[in-house]
Amino acid sequence: MPEPTQHDVRETFDSGLPPQHGVSSVIVVGAGLAGLATAHELTKQGVPVTVLEAGDRPGGRTRTLREPFADGLYAEAGAMTVTEHCHYTMRYLRETGVGTEPSDLVDTDFGYHRGGVRIPPDKLGEHAGLLGLHPDEHGLTVGDLITRYVSDFNDALGPETARPDWTPSPRLLELDRLSVRRVLEDRGASAAAIDLMEPLFLEMRGGELESASAMAWARYESGPRSFSTADARWYKISGGTDMLARALADGLRERILYRSPVVRIAQDDWAAEVTFLDHGRLRTLRADRAVITAPFGSLRRVNLSTARLSAAKHTAIRRLRYASTVRVFLQMRRRFWPEKRLMLSTDTAIRTVRDATPRQPGPRAIVECWFSGWRAQATAAMSPEERVAHTLEDLEPILPGAREHFELGASVAWDNEPYAAGAYILPETGHSELMAGIRAVEGRLHFAGEHTAFEPNGGSMNYALESAVRVLMEMASMASTVPV
Ligand SMILES: Cc1cc2nc3c(=O)[nH]c(=O)nc-3n(C[C@H](O)[C@H](O)[C@H](O)COP(=O)(O)OP(=O)(O)OC[C@H]3O[C@@H](n4cnc5c(N)ncnc54)[C@H](O)[C@@H]3O)c2cc1C
Repeated sequence: MPEPTQHDVRETFDSGLPPQHGVSSVIVVGAGLAGLATAHELTKQGVPVTVLEAGDRPGGRTRTLREPFADGLYAEAGAMTVTEHCHYTMRYLRETGVGTEPSDLVDTDFGYHRGGVRIPPDKLGEHAGLLGLHPDEHGLTVGDLITRYVSDFNDALGPETARPDWTPSPRLLELDRLSVRRVLEDRGASAAAIDLMEPLFLEMRGGELESASAMAWARYESGPRSFSTADARWYKISGGTDMLARALADGLRERILYRSPVVRIAQDDWAAEVTFLDHGRLRTLRADRAVITAPFGSLRRVNLSTARLSAAKHTAIRRLRYASTVRVFLQMRRRFWPEKRLMLSTDTAIRTVRDATPRQPGPRAIVECWFSGWRAQATAAMSPEERVAHTLEDLEPILPGAREHFELGASVAWDNEPYAAGAYILPETGHSELMAGIRAVEGRLHFAGEHTAFEPNGGSMNYALESAVRVLMEMASMASTVPV
């Protein structure tokens, strides 16, 4: 059977997953959403599954921090937003009975902090000189800038960019050779305009516009996930994003082996073979198939010398980039700022400052400081204590009173998380050359996870879940074709 398309996967998901008649056992590497959904569906069909997870909890990059905060406050270190367009996420939320509520990222009191001045979006025109906008950008709102530099550009590319079932045309492949910054500059955008637009529509590039693929960007910005085209309500998962992973893991229980980092993956004609650390001892399991959901940043440290992988897969594993992101959380005694839903884009090392707990009860609040790109890499190089101390220092001029109201802090630097090695996929220029190799089946080894999505910018829970469905289709169609 040819490789299923994105459309096939969606149709199969909606009409019922295929039976895994010929599959006798499966090892799943990773208990993030892709691994959990794969194991959940196989278990429903009675296929014996073992999930090997390096960490001590399910969910991977869906990670809700509940410690060390007081009064039951919590904050999201990883994913936090889901929209009605997240078909797979919404379906699994319904199936597991996990609820949603409006996202904290909508209807915020969004503002800019530039050159030490707090500027509401509708007052940017009064500060055009300070900001360094080109003369022909004076008087434009950020919405106008986005229309001029992003929406008009996407409209000119035509409808194919937004087509649901998507393979890049030669014209889009040309764009894959250009960076996002290059395209914006060629269209006349000043550095100041790019800087003002960035928090609203470029967040998924992780602050690296110089290397991010313009093809992946055009696709993302013309789709329903973008801030500039979003036509759906934004939600968060009630009680914390990790509730979905926890609900899926509850149904798998002893099938998941935590603290079991995989160190070697191999295969022969008869089985897939996975070696992992079990309480400090090497243990090897063999199964009919293995589904590998570990991000490639982590997989680079797994021995694959006898995995019989294609050259394309090795290249993809070596080259795939992930965005650098750090979130620092500062618990404050009370909300000492006037805004009801504080959210500021700054030109300091901290890219975004926001109240991470606007709807959580009690006087205390957690202020989230978000770093991306090289600023995140610099912050990740600090010790956790230094990170909190320096962030608090940098926050004081932005939010006067921060030092006085600060109680405690925590942080997650995704580059330093050994089994993530980055936040989410950062499709760089030339990404289209890697895409087919990233998700291709290799004998008895299947590859799932956000990075294997059909979408070049698939860094989301939804596409991690979609990838699980694709892999289940692959397994069902190949069961009878590979000798056991
Ligand atoms: C800061 C941030 C913000 C985000 N915001 C959003 C958002 O708002 N909305 C959204 O939908 N998505 C968001 N995402 C993306 C989303 O979290 C991910 O795309 C998705 O959770 C990835 O799921 P996965 O199963 O592919 O990978 P992971 O969640 O990374 O799962 C992989 C699992 O494999 C394990 N593993 C890795 N290596 C090994 C090994 N050698 N042995 C055993 N186990 C191993 C890991 O510990 C992990 O549990 C965000 C992510 C981050 C980091």
